[in-house]
Amino acid sequence: MGKLIKKICLVGPEGVGKTSLIKRFIDNSFDEKYRSTIGVQISQKLIELKPGQSVELIIWDLEGFDISKNYPMSYLLGAATFIFVADVSRPNTISELASIYSRILANTKMDVAPLIAINKIDLISVNERETELNKLKSSTIFSSASSFHLTSAKLGDSVEEIFNSVALSICTKND
Ligand code: GDP
Ligand code: MG
Repeated sequence: MGKLIKKICLVGPEGVGKTSLIKRFIDNSFDEKYRSTIGVQISQKLIELKPGQSVELIIWDLEGFDISKNYPMSYLLGAATFIFVADVSRPNTISELASIYSRILANTKMDVAPLIAINKIDLISVNERETELNKLKSSTIFSSASSFHLTSAKLGDSVEEIFNSVALSICTKND
């Protein structure tokens, strides 16, 4: 079988930590300073799930998705799937993400179900995390998402997990 190369996109409101999640995954580093992403930045990483099962992820880091603007949907073309990101410390980013989510679902075709990452969990207590996760699981807004993950780009929690989970669904689909 030829090498599997797939595009994925991280989308979500501005400042939720999309760039930071990618940076943690690619370089295993974190930057406290906020540098707004302009347009798109592309990174790539080969993920080897097990011998003979690997995928090269081409990761598109998109500028904060402002639903009031005419977003360039063409950036999203050809993505195998999406990681939708919100910030747990700013609950409004979760509702904004819900609109972004339904808009993208209505306008794109993906190979595998998208994934939701609620980032910056280092800013809330362990008890609050449980409540947050249960709230998300019972909400119907993200109905077709495959899974919810509470992440911290700062500490690294569940960062490998989200990208590996995407790689696994892509590999399984293309087996
Ligand atoms: P983007 O606009 O979605 O790409 O967001 P950035 O990755 O640029 O992050 C925005 C700000 O949030 C930066 O100041 C980051 O340092 C900070 N940040 C990102 N992820 C985390 C996280 O997991 N925890 C905390 N505490 N801050 C974070
Ligand atoms: Mg960014």
